[in-house]
Amino acid sequence: MSDDTSDTRPEGARPGAPGEAPGGAAPAAAPGAPGSRSAARAALRRVPAWAWAAGGLAVAVLVGMLAAAALRPAPPADPAPLPDPQAAAPALPAPGAGAEAPALPPAAQPGADAPALPYEEPQDPGLERTIRQIDFALLETLLFTGYDPHAMTIRETRLETRGEDRYHFQVVDIELENGPERFVDILARSLAKWAPEAALASGGQGSYTVAVAGVPTHVLEFATPAPAPGPAEPRPARRGGLLAIVIDDMGQDLRYARELAALPFPVTFSVLPGTPHNREVAALAARSGRELLLHLPMEPKGWPGINPGPGALFTFMVPDEMRRVLAADLAEIPGAVGVNNHMGSRFTSDADGMAVVLDELRARGLFFLDSLTAQGSTAVRLAREMGLPVYRRSVFLDNVRDVGAITRQMEKAARSAAATGQAVAIGHPYPETLEALKQWARREGRTETIVHLKELKPLN
Ligand SMILES: [Zn+2]
Repeated sequence: MSDDTSDTRPEGARPGAPGEAPGGAAPAAAPGAPGSRSAARAALRRVPAWAWAAGGLAVAVLVGMLAAAALRPAPPADPAPLPDPQAAAPALPAPGAGAEAPALPPAAQPGADAPALPYEEPQDPGLERTIRQIDFALLETLLFTGYDPHAMTIRETRLETRGEDRYHFQVVDIELENGPERFVDILARSLAKWAPEAALASGGQGSYTVAVAGVPTHVLEFATPAPAPGPAEPRPARRGGLLAIVIDDMGQDLRYARELAALPFPVTFSVLPGTPHNREVAALAARSGRELLLHLPMEPKGWPGINPGPGALFTFMVPDEMRRVLAADLAEIPGAVGVNNHMGSRFTSDADGMAVVLDELRARGLFFLDSLTAQGSTAVRLAREMGLPVYRRSVFLDNVRDVGAITRQMEKAARSAAATGQAVAIGHPYPETLEALKQWARREGRTETIVHLKELKPLN
């Protein structure tokens, strides 16, 4: 993510204190010196939790762009003491200084470059995508006004619903040396580029609201830092709130399953039918007391270009055929206590097909977890009507296969759990996901609220 290839430490190990001299070279750059090479590099090292949670790899792309933009117009690095941060800050024209366009990098499509999952189908964008664009604008504005990314922290996230759309509402704390006027002015221009549909409005008392089509997505609370602050650290997620972690697409790799079972907190195994080790992984789950799901392949909207694999259900099947395929799949995963969908953006949107599946699961005493691969999924509504326990995925952990990004998604899931009482995170059997979970296991106080799905309250 960084142009500084000499630093190969993992994200979590990088010191984040403001004013750190990168690589022990030149004097430390103050947080407010965007034109200096060292400040830009320091900023690159300190992309914070919220930024990764917001955009993962795409943020890295943006930060790279910003760094490039910041470096281009800058004079050669000056070893002399840096000027006052506030004086150095304006790389952009002063607010209201004229019609000159701000020197922001050209608009791109953040997220468009994020690698698609090799196995899962792409996600519906929805409001969550616009929120990510707004997060980009916030990060851009922070860097352009010369602040360390740690000046911004997410105080609260809540999973909200608008029609079929589910999105994360955020309350963000932003600490600035002075009032918010200049920041807000630049943010408005950045929003016009990244998320033109977003509206920024003052809520009074140093608070601002960002809304999309009248739906508030962000509350920005501005404050001046306390005197003599300690090293800036992202605020830990509040404790409390139960978190279930489900690893999908299992059954290919027995060794991976063993490592997952060895984690000091429970992780739910979701095993695909037709995989080489599905029965062994199911037996391992039983031996190690891990919750087991059938990961049921279902027709995606991209079919036949995207293939859900063996044992899949399709909307063109007659109900008897659906029941037969489902029974055969369940027979391959003995001991499964529930089912979640693999792909299925088309099938879960089809009420007739889902009713057949849910009826069959109810008869067998199994629950359903909606992986939520389509905003139009009918699973939760139907399951409620039919009286079958149902859960819904809150966060995908590893759309970006990077340990740091996955850790940020874990933090997002933990915050969501704290805000709403419970959350479900879904990951995949990637080495990066396992590494992130291992690191999470070493963090004090972060694992005792991780439970199996069955310990969560169904949405019924
Ligand atoms: Zn899957």
